[in-house]
Amino acid sequence: MPYNATGLWARCLKSIKLKIQPQSFQTWFGPTNSLELCPERAVIEVPTSFFADWLEEHYSWLICATVEEETSWKPKLEFVVQKQAKGPTEFNQAEREDSVVKHSSSEASVSSNNKSSLVFPLNPKYRFEQFVVGDSNEFSFTAAKAVADSPGQTAFNPLVIYGGVGLGKTHLLQAIGDLCYRNGSAQRIVYVTAEKFFSDYLQAIQRQDTAEYIKIYRNADVLLIDDIQFYVKTEGCQRELIHTFNTLYQNQKQIVLSSDRPPSTLKGFEDRLISRFQWGLVTDIEAPNLETRIAILNCKAEEKGISLAPEISRFLAEQVVSNVRELEGALIRLLTMKSHMGMELNIELARRALRGMGRHSTPRPCVNIETVQKATSDFFDIPIPMLIGATRKQDITSARHVCMYLCKSIIGAPLKAIGNEFGNRDHTTVIHACKAVEKKLSKDPTFGNLVTELEKSIQSNASQ
Ligand code: ADP
Ligand code: MG
Repeated sequence: MPYNATGLWARCLKSIKLKIQPQSFQTWFGPTNSLELCPERAVIEVPTSFFADWLEEHYSWLICATVEEETSWKPKLEFVVQKQAKGPTEFNQAEREDSVVKHSSSEASVSSNNKSSLVFPLNPKYRFEQFVVGDSNEFSFTAAKAVADSPGQTAFNPLVIYGGVGLGKTHLLQAIGDLCYRNGSAQRIVYVTAEKFFSDYLQAIQRQDTAEYIKIYRNADVLLIDDIQFYVKTEGCQRELIHTFNTLYQNQKQIVLSSDRPPSTLKGFEDRLISRFQWGLVTDIEAPNLETRIAILNCKAEEKGISLAPEISRFLAEQVVSNVRELEGALIRLLTMKSHMGMELNIELARRALRGMGRHSTPRPCVNIETVQKATSDFFDIPIPMLIGATRKQDITSARHVCMYLCKSIIGAPLKAIGNEFGNRDHTTVIHACKAVEKKLSKDPTFGNLVTELEKSIQSNASQ
């Protein structure tokens, strides 16, 4: 008797849903089907090859483990791309509306005939090729790239990228615009700061002529609005944004927004706007770890035709930890001192460059994964083998999570390296641990004090 692939897959999905973030589940598993699920093969149907690659790289372990739990089979996993890729349900509803301008693939190929136009200029430095990818920004980078390859045609509409200052949001937004322009995947590309978007609107209202404004923004094929948190919160502006959003969305045009915080926590926005921001994909950029910071410095130096000695890039990257713009500032200062004062590029000069930026340049004490594990083990009085072992007792799991979190936040160690040092666990386990700790930190001040205490003891152990 043939196996009921759909029913079995539905059971697996139910179980996967409990294991990952709701947003990730909806994005990556929502549009999947199973065409075949038997002891030998699990064939999963996905909307595009991008989904196949992403699921393969990030979730194949989870799918295999879940299929085994549900069926006790260990089938070979395969992904196939749907013959006619469909967008999310909202697109299909929109297609039924008369007002929809169809964006067929033949039209898209006409637009690649160099008819693309940038309505406002972009900074030529902000391209995908110049963006260094690391654990902290990989998800946002991949989604941005997918959107630039097929604007309006992926499930990521709108794409919302959020994160702290100087972590690359503007760079990614402009890179999307740039790639759409260069590969002709969209015709009218509009990059704008939210500030300009709304001040243009207010000026149009004052002139009593909104035609030109509407022509620019509602005819965009790709609309990239940067720093939406600076949004002018008048009712008229909110309404205008909703109109623009609806028009573009219904016509399958791409919308990309950036913000310094998650959309759900934006203040002063109407609920219907916030819910629209969450229709597609919301993704964050975190501060890069040491390895990525070094790679970014080397990339920026190369752009300037300079090759940095490894000890210098490491030194700078160790000192400037949380903001790429500042890191770049330190490099520019260093290079300026070198060329204007004819000084030699060495650690001493790097130290002076940082001093000029109001930074202390004493080296940070040596903290590594081992020292964090040792301090955590002492702090919670749990032997190291147990801390990194497989025990699932709640107090031990909780200490293990904190320890992984601190390896990431204090040292900036790569997730894979942390996983390896915790009994060869997968990097996704580390992500899960860090998220669990962050969530608890935001809710439980006593837990926060505990983590701060431990953090202090790690720093003081290391400097002894
Ligand atoms: P944000 O908009 O998040 O405040 P930006 O996009 O303006 O930050 O980035 C600040 C600077 O850091 C820019 O010069 C940008 O090129 C650089 N930058 C940020 N992240 C990266 C990265 N991953 N690779 C290369 N450069 C980066
Ligand atoms: Mg910015």
